[in-house]
This record gives sequence, structure tokens and C-alpha cells, in this order.
Amino acid sequence: MYKIIDGKQISAEIKEEMKKEVAALNESGVSVGLAVVLVGNDPASKVYIGNKKKACEALGIVSSEYLLPEDTSEQSLLELVDKLNRDDSVDGILVQLPLPRHLDEKKIINAISPDKDVDAFHPINVGKIMIGDYIFAPCTPAGIIELIERSGISLEGKSCVVIGRSNIVGKPMSMLLLHKNATVTICHSRTKNLAEVVSSADVVVAAVGKPKFVTANMVKEGAVVIDVGINRMADGKLCGDVNFDAVAPKCSYITPVPGGVGPMTIAMLMKNTVAAAKQKQK
Ligand code: NAD
Repeated sequence: MYKIIDGKQISAEIKEEMKKEVAALNESGVSVGLAVVLVGNDPASKVYIGNKKKACEALGIVSSEYLLPEDTSEQSLLELVDKLNRDDSVDGILVQLPLPRHLDEKKIINAISPDKDVDAFHPINVGKIMIGDYIFAPCTPAGIIELIERSGISLEGKSCVVIGRSNIVGKPMSMLLLHKNATVTICHSRTKNLAEVVSSADVVVAAVGKPKFVTANMVKEGAVVIDVGINRMADGKLCGDVNFDAVAPKCSYITPVPGGVGPMTIAMLMKNTVAAAKQKQK
């Protein structure tokens, strides 16, 4: 019988831990602040930043929102980032992606101080993750490590297959698994015999962006399956990258969509923001 890894419960545990850490920091005179910048009116992004604000409020993190019009110039966005970099009350800076097309995402990310880059997208933080000397890891892969470890699953020596090689999920995920002493394989759109590779894995992380991509024949008996996919279907429902009903009976552990990886992202953003404040204290 498979077990469901409950992302809602584990993310609530992490938030509770962070609430205590924020209170302890406040007692020693250190405030914790997160600045969130949104350019334009993307409805999904508005929902995300609303959820981030709520999480900050619940944990005692001071959140500041910067809602900029769609036609904001690159220069004025860079000036805002520079101002936030120099503001001692701001520990974390998050520029909500995607940005409108006329703005160069790379340039904006590179302008954020690596010490405040709580998304861990800055090249310095990417490099630190590579060498295993990091304070921030990108929220989704870091959340997946928490889901696995807090479920009592050891990664040491396990064969892990990550499907997807994006800079936000697949690549950092692979590095974090490697730092846990797993043996890691990355599959992507050009991988040959993908089903064969995936079916050798003790742990499968699916970050493809294709509904029900991972089918039962790709998964070994007793595997741990982590579904990162968030696909909005025609009926408005969310669907993961894993065919849950078919795959779950073969698994030892599996994450659902929704309620698996999704809730971890904000919890890890809170954790990174607290980590940034602790660094400031040092
Ligand atoms: P992406 O589109 O940047 O990357 C998808 C990856 O899948 C690519 O590296 C590509 O090589 C690979 N791929 C595509 N087709 C393939 C195929 N046929 N076989 C093997 N590999 C294939 O996407 P992303 O940003 O990494 O996100 C992946 C999914 O995770 C999306 O559904 C996204 O919505 C979701 N996501 C969820 C969270 C969360 O908080 N739960 C966070 C980020 C992304």
C-alpha cells in the first residue's frame, strides 16, 4: 500500500518552525523582511504574491509589495532593486517571474544582491549550489528534499531520476539530490529510452510540464514518486505530470497534485527569508 506525502502538512510544520524562529529573531532585536515586486497584471502572479503576503503575515515577517505597471522601464525596475538591496529592513527580494517581454529577466535577477536572493536564481547562488556551499536553494527543489526527508526516506546511495532540466527545477533538484549522496540521472526532451531509465529509479522527480506524462510502466515497484507538474486542464482542475491513479499502486510513497510539492514552495521561501535575516544578524 502506498503512502501519500502530504505537502500541506509538511509545509505547515515548516511554517510553524519559521514562526518560532522569527519570534526569536524579533526578541533579539532583528526584524525579518521580504520585498515582493510584481510588474504588470498577470492574474496567476497576483494570486502567488497574495499567498506570499498572507504567509509572511502569519509568520511575523514584514512584507512589502511593489506593484508596478506593465510598461515599467528596465531602468526604473533596476533602480527599485538597487534601493531594496540597500534597505536594511529588507532581507529577501523576490521579483515575480515571468516579467513582461520588454524586460530582460537575466539582467534583473543579476541585479539582486546574492545575499537577498531568496529565490536562489542569481548566478552566484547557482554556483554555490553547484559546489555545495549554499544558504539558499531554489524553493521548489529545496521543498522536495524536505518532503522526502521529513517522510523518513533516506536518499543516501539511492538511484534518483529527475525528468526535466530547467534552471528552476530540474538542474538544482539534481544537485540537491547529489549533495544527499544519491546517484542522479537527469532526463530531458532528447533522452532516448526514457521509460527504461526512469523504471530503474528508486526515486523519480517529474518536472516536465506535461499532464500524466509518467505512466505505470515507467515506474519500478516500491519507487518514491515526486510530482512537480502543475498543469491546468480544460475543466479548470489541476493535474500533475504523473498519472496518479495508475502509478500510485506501484509506489511506496507518492505526492499528490494538488497538495504535494505546490504548498512547499512558499514554505521554503519563508525559510530562505529567515535564513537571510540570520545571516544579517551574524
Ligand atoms: P520547463 O518547461 O522549464 O522544463 C520542462 C523540462 O521538461 C525541460 O527541461 C524539458 O527538457 C523536459 N521535457 C519536456 N518534454 C519532455 C519529454 N517528452 N521527455 C522528457 N523530458 C521532457 O518547466 P519547469 O519550470 O521545470 O516546470 C516543470 C513543471 O513543474 C511545470 O508543470 C510547472 O508548472 C511545474 N512547477 C511547479 C512548481 C511548484 O511549486 N509545484 C514550481 C515550478 C514549476
